[in-house]
Amino acid sequence: MHIASVGVSKSCFLFSLALCSLLLLLIPALQSPPRQLEPPQPRPHAKSASSEQHANLPTGTASAGSTNTDAGLSRSSEVIAESARTDVPSPKRNVESWPRNTDQLELKDIFIAVKTTRKYHRSRLELLFQTWVSQAKEQTFIFTDGDDRELQLKTGTNIINTNCSAAHNRQALCCKMSVEYDKFIESQKKWFCHVDDDNYVILPSLLRLLSSYHHSQDIYLGRPSLDHPIEAAERVKSDGTMSVKFWFATGGAGFCISRGLALKMSPWASLGNFITTAEKIRLPDDCTIGYIIEALLEVTLTHTHLFHSHLENLQKLPVPTVLHQVTLSYGGFENRRNVVSIVGGFSLTEDPTRFKTVHCLLYPDTEWCPKLKPGHTN
Ligand code: UDP
Ligand code: MN
Repeated sequence: MHIASVGVSKSCFLFSLALCSLLLLLIPALQSPPRQLEPPQPRPHAKSASSEQHANLPTGTASAGSTNTDAGLSRSSEVIAESARTDVPSPKRNVESWPRNTDQLELKDIFIAVKTTRKYHRSRLELLFQTWVSQAKEQTFIFTDGDDRELQLKTGTNIINTNCSAAHNRQALCCKMSVEYDKFIESQKKWFCHVDDDNYVILPSLLRLLSSYHHSQDIYLGRPSLDHPIEAAERVKSDGTMSVKFWFATGGAGFCISRGLALKMSPWASLGNFITTAEKIRLPDDCTIGYIIEALLEVTLTHTHLFHSHLENLQKLPVPTVLHQVTLSYGGFENRRNVVSIVGGFSLTEDPTRFKTVHCLLYPDTEWCPKLKPGHTN
């Protein structure tokens, strides 16, 4: 009897021990699954004391300070700066598999202004129409300085003759920016994005980035051209004896402004006022945008390295991150080899800018994209 009761307690003890071990083993399985990557949180729009602030950017984004040392005021001088950081984490997923956006921003909500000039209609614009513009015809607006009925008919896109001078000087470029601004305000769209005619816009990335913010917030997004704020004589709020420091996003890499902020810019930007403002501070169009936003409205530029101009060394952009950038560019006559290092269906001779290659990786079903055999590597 006694021996039997000891046997029962022993088996009870062993049974409880087994039950506890089983429960311990089950704990991890009962816990909630690991958190998925969340889209960046909207930034507060109050002016921050830090000049090194950066957007919370999607995977595949460098978020450290700019190392670009180009002058910004003389972009054509083609300074190749060490701006493309190599410490970008490699994205493991493609653009399509990023989490869905939460504020339901659609491509049609974005106004994309492309600045061009008559002489580049064939050499630069046609490539854009063939590639990314074909995916955003309704919301892309081409701002040029000469009529081109053929281009309009052939592409069916919005081509606006600004009647600004075709010269590449401050007045002509500010004149175009002034028309871009007015057309955007008229459009009722939620976001204004400006690019040059040598930029490729990766639309899914642009949508992803802008979805992280709300268009009613004060948002100015772009790549700083310099690694320090620019200093200019303050001739709008005072007589020019005082100087003012501000950041600006380089126009050659493209930048975006929320509608909420664009509306606040109106006193200095609408109906020709942009030209007057630019003349007062004697700075180019992209600097003037920065001046109005940072110096006059006291809204901070959100620095992002997802925008790229050919003033940086594009070859340094890590290949796995290329399709996650928002804009790309290519070197002009002076530096034809300054292009993103991406391989695909076209050789460098067939696609010197790499825009076709990028486009076919993003939209492989495009009819003119080579249908690659599995395992093919250019
Ligand atoms: N551009 C212009 N008028 C001109 C020359 C250029 O509107 O007389 C535009 C051009 O189409 C491009 C931008 O200005 O969108 C910058 O020109 P480019 O790339 O030739 O020079 P960068 O400043 O980038 O070296
Ligand atoms: Mn350029």
